[in-house]
Amino acid sequence: MLWTKNCPRCERGDVSLTNDGYGWFVECLQCGFAMDVDRPARAEALLQQINRKHRLAAKAA
Ligand SMILES: [Zn+2]
Repeated sequence: MLWTKNCPRCERGDVSLTNDGYGWFVECLQCGFAMDVDRPARAEALLQQINRKHRLAAKAA
């Protein structure tokens, strides 16, 4: 699973869903941003949630 240009940190990065044997996490291929996810099915929703907050914060700043 890969979401292009969806990184909450660098915004242009491609975020991929990975399992390292200990659990699932999403990781930006460009800047190294990483976030644990409890279930792979939740990854996209979490990503969207963070991105929405991030954009609101950027607007307020
Ligand atoms: Zn990034």
